[in-house]
Amino acid sequence: MTDSDHLRALVRDVADFPKAGIVFRDITPLLKDPTGLQGTIDALTTPWVAEDVDFVAGIEARGFVLGPAVALRLGAGFLPVRKAGKLPCAVARQEYELEYGSATIELHRDALSQGDRVVIVDDVLATGGTAGAAVALVESLGATVVGLSFLVELTALEGRTRVDGRHIESVITY
Ligand code: AMP
Repeated sequence: MTDSDHLRALVRDVADFPKAGIVFRDITPLLKDPTGLQGTIDALTTPWVAEDVDFVAGIEARGFVLGPAVALRLGAGFLPVRKAGKLPCAVARQEYELEYGSATIELHRDALSQGDRVVIVDDVLATGGTAGAAVALVESLGATVVGLSFLVELTALEGRTRVDGRHIESVITY
């Protein structure tokens, strides 16, 4: 069994959550397993160890679970990319389309400066809407996206096409 197969076996598929027709990839059993957790953080970190990374930006909410451990391993700081209305100071915001309606993510304006080098972390790359918005948000503050690290990529949804030209790494693909 490869490391990736070991991690995949610990992801639980939940049919029809949060609504009919969706197979939810539940990573809580993977986080609960000590070797699974270790392997997850290793796999999310490895692609970037030779890079110069100032910050890991984790997308609310599961990017908050994974991102800080990756940041610690890279000797980088951690930035929470939050849903609208949660950050107390001046923010940059990026709106993006969902299947029904839209969503907004935000970063403090003073979180990043020109030339800062950022790795974006989240649990799942699905349609890529969230990831594309996170890239636009980071770049709107003058920073550089070194790449994006996902635990799970749902390849059929072609999320990579929404994050064109960036270095994308995913640990488990479906
Ligand atoms: P998207 O913007 O479509 O790429 O969706 C990304 C976000 O939605 C990720 O942060 C995931 O947490 C969540 N997500 C989307 N689809 C799934 C799924 N099938 N299982 C678990 N989480 C999902």
